Amino acid sequence: MDEETFVIVSDIIEYNFCPRFIYFMHCLDIPQHEEKRYKVRRGREIHKLRIKTNKEYLRKKLNVVRKELDVPLTSNKNNYKGLIDEILFFDDGTASPMDYKFTEYREKKFRTHKYQSVLYGELIRENYGVVVNRGYICYARSNNLVQEIEFTDKDLKDALDMVNEILKIIQTGFYPKKTRYKMKCVDCCYRNICV
Ligand code: SF4
Repeated sequence: MDEETFVIVSDIIEYNFCPRFIYFMHCLDIPQHEEKRYKVRRGREIHKLRIKTNKEYLRKKLNVVRKELDVPLTSNKNNYKGLIDEILFFDDGTASPMDYKFTEYREKKFRTHKYQSVLYGELIRENYGVVVNRGYICYARSNNLVQEIEFTDKDLKDALDMVNEILKIIQTGFYPKKTRYKMKCVDCCYRNICV
């Protein structure tokens, strides 16, 4: 395996939407249109949300004793990396990732968000050597709803399998099948080059 190639945790979102996104983004180097602008806006919004969510939720309900913000971590074991919005450290010695989403909570999307959280959790475990058994996701457009996720071994295995699939596409130039859901192709930014 090429030691220098790392999957980015946010690639999981694109991969779950359609595996071909990974091919177009990483093998052909064709970015999605709004990516840069979105990242700048996201940074500003996270700042506002943190202030609100922290007061309403974190210290009172979760017994958070310390936290770290915007933490970049790498897994040399599993060849992926990610920028974690917040790492929460609890009074029982465990830790969790906190991720902010600027969307409504939707069950369908939650599955993908859960795998992101699981991968962030594994990054914390590998880099800090602490127990990470759950994660949190805050949904800004659902009145800052905070969802708790209990991590399971199966979720971690599934998430790492996705990382390996993405690595395979990036490293070998493997051209994956089209999505099974044709509706997704209607508004897709790659539809003109996807054959
Ligand atoms: S056009 Fe359809 S199959 Fe092709 S990348 Fe977009 S969503 Fe995937």
